[in-house]
Formats: sequence, structure tokens, C-alpha cells
Amino acid sequence: MVAKTDVLVIGGGAVGLCTAYYLAQADRSVTLVEKGKIGSGCSDKNAGLIVPSHIIPLAAPGVIKKGLRWLFNPNSPFYIKPRFSLELASWVWQFMRASREQRMRESIPVLHHLLQASYPLFMDFTGSQESGAVKMIEDGLLMIYRTAKALEADVRDAERARQLGLEVSILDQQGLTQTETGLAVSAVGGIFYHQDAHLDPQDFIASLTSKVSENAVQVKAETEVTGFDLHQGKIRTVKTTGGDFSANQVVLAGGSWSPEIVAALGVKLPIQAGKGYSVTVSRPNVKPRLPAILAEAKIAVTPFADSLRFSGTLEIAGLDLSVSTRRVQGMLNAVQSYYPEMDMQEALHAPVWSGLRPCTPDGLPIIGRAEDIDNLLIAAGHAMLGISLAPVTGKIVAEMIEGKAPSVDVTALSPTRFN
Ligand SMILES: Cc1cc2nc3c(=O)[nH]c(=O)nc-3n(C[C@H](O)[C@H](O)[C@H](O)COP(=O)(O)OP(=O)(O)OC[C@H]3O[C@@H](n4cnc5c(N)ncnc54)[C@H](O)[C@@H]3O)c2cc1C
Repeated sequence: MVAKTDVLVIGGGAVGLCTAYYLAQADRSVTLVEKGKIGSGCSDKNAGLIVPSHIIPLAAPGVIKKGLRWLFNPNSPFYIKPRFSLELASWVWQFMRASREQRMRESIPVLHHLLQASYPLFMDFTGSQESGAVKMIEDGLLMIYRTAKALEADVRDAERARQLGLEVSILDQQGLTQTETGLAVSAVGGIFYHQDAHLDPQDFIASLTSKVSENAVQVKAETEVTGFDLHQGKIRTVKTTGGDFSANQVVLAGGSWSPEIVAALGVKLPIQAGKGYSVTVSRPNVKPRLPAILAEAKIAVTPFADSLRFSGTLEIAGLDLSVSTRRVQGMLNAVQSYYPEMDMQEALHAPVWSGLRPCTPDGLPIIGRAEDIDNLLIAAGHAMLGISLAPVTGKIVAEMIEGKAPSVDVTALSPTRFN
């Protein structure tokens, strides 16, 4: 038997859930299928930062040089596992091209407009903790620097953000101490982005799941897409471990797994998984007041109501979720050099979560219709911004399916831009 639905969303991460929500708001009948538990891809235990400040794409000048230096350091925050793969070779080539100054300059306004449009949409999913909804804490984000060189380099990016209208403070040591009052910080200075925010991503996923269910979305967890039937350039049936579905429109929100899900359809998506880790402690001896990024070590530190989370590293190593204990220890050991009072013993023995960021070579997500398949829309490749950009992505996809002009210009996000 084939179950009928108007729109089938593949993937129950932040992007798939937000897409299902905005489609349901437009009175579409929606089914969402997820191969594991909802949120269990990359969306539930990440750093939870909502970052309008992150206007610089992953592919930027200097990244290649830094990356090459880090490649041979087992404790480094960035690593590409050498393997024979044409897709990886092509991805690295495209990444190098996108890292040029001019390309980065072109990407900045694209990310800025998406991030600005996404931020207010969080109001659709958050609220007071009393109401049971996830709370978004609008406390800003502190970047912390131990070296003047790293601080100077990022001040240029901070100036760009300021020119775009973001509120930014450049802090010396004293300013840092006055801003982060929760604990001692050992650093030369910082940059404070006033308009960033954070939330607990696990609560966000729970809140999204109840929102979509309230809006009559059929949510089918533990249901893996295994193949498709094509007819005259359209997907006629989606095959899953929970039976077949026929849908007028199919949205692919499969995160890092997106390329393999649609490979059999001949759709090529240049997305590489960028593995990262997080470790959460429930009894930190000291806690920062503000969420922070420890700049040189590339570690995010997020204070939640009852816990503290450390997140970091980016390993391009395929669809592999295994944990490199050495790299995690390297990440945790680096924390103490920024927060000398912090006791890392609990963290060093806590369970490690790993997640795969879906990374495109140009650092921009892919949002738009697939070229040769009429009823397939792609919403993937959000790399380190998938929580921040999930609401606007869902809204744009719903607008496209409704035949409306997207509220944000999506020309630069087209799946065909890599052809
Ligand atoms: C350490 C770390 C920290 C991060 N911190 C932040 C942050 O602070 N702020 C931020 O904005 N972003 C952050 N990110 C990035 C963010 O987590 C991701 O960009 C985001 O979760 C991607 O969401 P998604 O819905 O596209 O993918 P996913 O959450 O991975 O969802 C895709 C889903 O598709 C499912 N799936 C795969 N194959 C199939 C199939 N065949 N059939 C059905 N379902 C399938 C998967 O199981 C998965 O659940 C971080 C990532 C990491 C690793």
C-alpha cells in the first residue's frame, strides 16, 4: 500500500522540522520521515548558539593556510582525513576557490540577510519556560582571544559586522573582565556581539516536535528513506522502511546524509560531513555568565540553566560518528587556558556527543529546487549555522512550494550553482 501526502519532508533535524512547521502553517498536509530519533542527526546536542554575528563563511582567505598547518597536529581543531574520494577532492578544490577574498565578500551579505531574517522567526518556537516552550536567551556572544594576533585578525571581521549594522564591542583585558563577570578569564581581549543569543538545542527540537504535531504534521521517526520511483522527471514514490509514500512535493532535509539519499536519483550535492564533538557537564565548579567562543582553540562554551557545554573540532572524515578521544581531550585541555579557575575533571570523564555538520564548499546552504527533478526541493548544507538558519530555511522552502517569491533572495543558494 502507498500512503499519500501532499509534502514529504526527509530528515527530522532542525531544518526538516522548521520546514514541516511552515508548510503546515500554509495548510499543506505534511509527513516527515526520520531514520532515527527526531533530532538525533546533528541537531540536538550542538552548542545552541544563534549567531547573526557569523557573517563570514567557512570558506574564507587564510583558512587553507591555517588548515594545512593544523592537518599534522592531532590536537588541532580542524582535520581532513586523507582518503581516496573524487567527491572529497572536488569539494576541497571548490572550497579553495571559494576561499578567495572576492568570493567571501560576495557571500557575506547572503549570510547576513539569511541570519537577520531567521532571528525573529525563533519567536515562533520559543517562549517562557513556564509555557513549556524553549527559552531563547538574548545575552550576546563573547569571542575570547589569548593572542593579540588572533584578536587583530578578527577585529577586521567585527568591523564588517558593525558596518552591516550589528552592535559590536571590542574589549581589552579590563573590558573583558567587566563583561564576563561570572569567572576569571585569561586572555588579551575579546569581541562582544550584543545581538547573538543561545538556547538548549535539545529543548528546541522538543519544542519544534510538539509544534509540528499540534499543526497536524505526521511525524514518523525510525523510518528510513531507502529509494525512489521516478516517473517523467518527477518522484512518484518514496520508499521507506515504514512503507511507500506518494507525495506531490518532496523536501530533502537530510543534513550530511543528503548526498547519499539522492545519489540514486543522479542528483549530486557537494556536501561533506564536518564532525564535531560536545561534552556537557552538570556540576561545573564555575560557570561563565556569557556563552563564548574561545577563538584560537575554536571551542564554543554554552552555559545552560543546569549545565555547561563545550563544543568544537571540525573533522572531514566521511559519514563517521566515531569519537577521537585524543582530539576531545585536546579540546577540553584548551578550555582551562582561557578559564584558569575551571576544573575540567568532570568534563574529561563525561560522555562525548558527536555530530556531522553538513558542509558545502562555499559555506552557504543549498536551498532550492533540484535541476532535473520537478518535485524535489533541497534544504541542506547549513554547516555550523543549521540551528541559526533553520527557521528561515523552513520559511523559504514553504514559500517556494506555495509558488510565492521567497522573502529572502535565494539566487546564491541554488543547488545548480556547483554545476
Ligand atoms: C559540535 C557542533 C556544534 C554546533 N553548534 C552550532 C551552533 O551553536 N549554532 C548553529 O546554528 N549550528 C551549530 N551546529 C551546526 C548544526 O548542528 C547543524 O548545522 C544542524 O543541526 C543541521 O541540521 P539539519 O536538520 O540540516 O541536519 P540534521 O540535524 O543532521 O538532520 C538530518 C536528519 O536526516 C536524517 N536522515 C539521514 N538519512 C536519512 C534517510 N535515509 N531517511 C530518513 N532520514 C534520514 C538523519 O538521521 C538526521 O536526523 C553545530 C554542529 C556541531 C557538530
